[in-house]
Amino acid sequence: MIKVSEITTYLKCPRMCYFVNKGCDLMGEVTPVYLERLILKELALTYGSAFNSADIQTFLNNELERISNEIRVIYRNELSKIDDAAITKSVTDITPLIETISLNLSVNTEFFSGEFIQDEPILRSDKFGLSGSPDRLLKINESLVPSIIKTGNMPENGVWNKDRLQLTAYSILVEEKYNSIVKKGFVEYARWGIVRPVVIKRHERRKVLQVMDRIKKIQDGFMPERPEDAPCEYCGFDGICDVKSTLASRFF
Ligand code: SF4
Repeated sequence: MIKVSEITTYLKCPRMCYFVNKGCDLMGEVTPVYLERLILKELALTYGSAFNSADIQTFLNNELERISNEIRVIYRNELSKIDDAAITKSVTDITPLIETISLNLSVNTEFFSGEFIQDEPILRSDKFGLSGSPDRLLKINESLVPSIIKTGNMPENGVWNKDRLQLTAYSILVEEKYNSIVKKGFVEYARWGIVRPVVIKRHERRKVLQVMDRIKKIQDGFMPERPEDAPCEYCGFDGICDVKSTLASRFF
């Protein structure tokens, strides 16, 4: 069984996918950026209710305060070593974003007028050997639509290619579970409160299946070459990765 998160990891770097499959822990120290992203994601899950509230800004400020009290319960394992001061600092950094988020939320009418069916539904296809949880599942005009929340940078136009492929993988899972056709999904850029639609295209469906084939080979023990444009600077595996594939395979 391949998880959609493995596809996302593969798209960052195939070798990263290899190390994760070997049981190496990708998660290092919880940085302020990571903590801020966790809080932003929780805040983004309230944007639908915020959209329907009389005062979006007040609503989000109240939600941010609630999340600051609850985040440690939600991410119990990840935040076990994080103190209150770090959480307060992240909340202070997010607070100034709320004004812009509030203004942008009110224009995402198509998305927020949809029926929110479930947050993080667990989807699994034995037929394709794929599983995963999109951040939300909505119903818009009788069609099921997956959505993913992104807390990092937003491209000037459209969505990042890796986000498009992640959404395509979730669309395949939604189609399998609900016997439906998914024509589009959404990417929510939480830091701005901007939601962008994505048409699910044939060549991206093909690409998802190709990546899955490569991940199957990695699961069988194949170690991919280190890509030239790999984000090694930000990767926790740098210390064990700087070797030829055949030599590294012996370590495991
Ligand atoms: S160190 Fe570089 S090549 Fe190795 S897994 Fe990390 S990103 Fe990929």
